[in-house]
Amino acid sequence: MTCECSDPGCECKGECANDATTTVRRIDMEDGTTTFDFCDDCASDALDSGVFATDDEDDNEEPLEDDGYIVDRPFHGYDVSYAGKFIGNFSDRDDAERALISAIKRDQFFPNCWFESDHGNLTLISVLDNGNYWA
Ligand SMILES: [Zn+2]
Ligand SMILES: [Zn+2]
Repeated sequence: MTCECSDPGCECKGECANDATTTVRRIDMEDGTTTFDFCDDCASDALDSGVFATDDEDDNEEPLEDDGYIVDRPFHGYDVSYAGKFIGNFSDRDDAERALISAIKRDQFFPNCWFESDHGNLTLISVLDNGNYWA
């Protein structure tokens, strides 16, 4: 089976010919059960969009109160919180991520970190593509 990516905004331009290796699920639809088989590259691109999730991520990763959060507040930048504390509001997502990472390094506490879209969807952002923690 080849990758089902048809997103013109993806690096493959929606014409991917790689073998599908990962099943991703659209989380912005009502029932949340529509799945697609993507290759690794397109899957990570799709997960970055916040519209898709993999099923294994749902099984073992639950957001906790002490986790790090970057919350997209349309027209009001990004709120950053960590370990139950509010860190600050940033107009730029990169600045928000930098502030969160520096708080993690300062406190030496390494929780999961999440990006919350303006629709309330959470994406795990603290695990890099190579499986390492981001900070
Ligand atoms: Zn692909
Ligand atoms: Zn693609």
